[in-house]
Amino acid sequence: MLENTINGIEIAASIRSDLRTSVEAFSKESGVPPSLAVILIGDNPASAVYVRNKEKACAEVGITTQSFTLPASTTEQQLLELVEKLNSDSNFHGILVQLPLPPHIRPSKIINHLNPNKDVDGLHPTNMGLLLAGSPYLAPCTPAGIQELLLRSGHLPDGKHVVVCGRSDIVGKPIAALLVQRNDRANATVSICHSQTPNLSHITRQADILIAAIGKPNTITADMVKEGVVVIDVGINRIPDNTRKSGYRLVGDVDYTNIQSKASGITPVPGGVGPMTIAMLLKNTLTAAQAQLLP
Ligand code: NDP
Repeated sequence: MLENTINGIEIAASIRSDLRTSVEAFSKESGVPPSLAVILIGDNPASAVYVRNKEKACAEVGITTQSFTLPASTTEQQLLELVEKLNSDSNFHGILVQLPLPPHIRPSKIINHLNPNKDVDGLHPTNMGLLLAGSPYLAPCTPAGIQELLLRSGHLPDGKHVVVCGRSDIVGKPIAALLVQRNDRANATVSICHSQTPNLSHITRQADILIAAIGKPNTITADMVKEGVVVIDVGINRIPDNTRKSGYRLVGDVDYTNIQSKASGITPVPGGVGPMTIAMLLKNTLTAAQAQLLP
């Protein structure tokens, strides 16, 4: 790994190690470990991998999980009923609904139905509202992970111009909201760009920190960034690769090879933001369990 690589695997491992100690203390005090219900619907192979990785990470820090795996034909009503049941089941402190959902199920309908105190993905409007109001409680995992990654790698956003490419509710909008907060973990000047932004490169070239959350490989090229930029590549794209047994490999949204020599810091894909997202899920699950059992 080159010197300017921001190593999400290492940073996430150190967070998980701290969490293991906190989870142990919590379990001792409350008499039960934090517990997460994981809902997976349909047969999206990437989602199945994400869920497996999340469950494995939970087990490693002492959080128990129970999977609810449902067929793609599950109706929105059936899913709402399951969420309802888990909302009031005190055996679960957190509920994770793995996205994306099959097209006939509206994600907002399901997310809005979650008990906000169990919303460990931090996507319920209550948690989004708290974030926007400057007092995040269960913050969305990927944005929270990006903030930690910046802070722990020494690339402080304070006083920097952060350009976010992407305006989704899961990544783009909440990371902008987190980094613009008035506190020393944030204090950035933030621009948000999207597919309708004219002359994107004019804005990206002004970025001290560029966050790409687009979902299309090679969208950010070397000519679109300035020398010394810090690049956080959130994208996870599968591209065909006959040299791999799986037949594909994962790449981000930025032209990693050509940007790396220009950047003062850059996250690889895989091994950048992904492990941080999982670490923040564990942290939120512990926070939710603490609030429910040790008020
Ligand atoms: P969405 O598809 O919801 O949003 C993509 C955003 O990118 C949209 O706002 C879209 O604009 C914008 N966009 C599309 N094309 C361009 C372009 N050419 N220039 C600038 N902006 C553009 O995706 P998500 O935010 O959910 O995810 C983004 C990526 O991050 C995906 O690859 C996803 O897999 C990955 N991801 C990774 C995670 C991790 O843990 N590492 C977690 C979550 C997501 P518009 O709104 O106009 O359509």
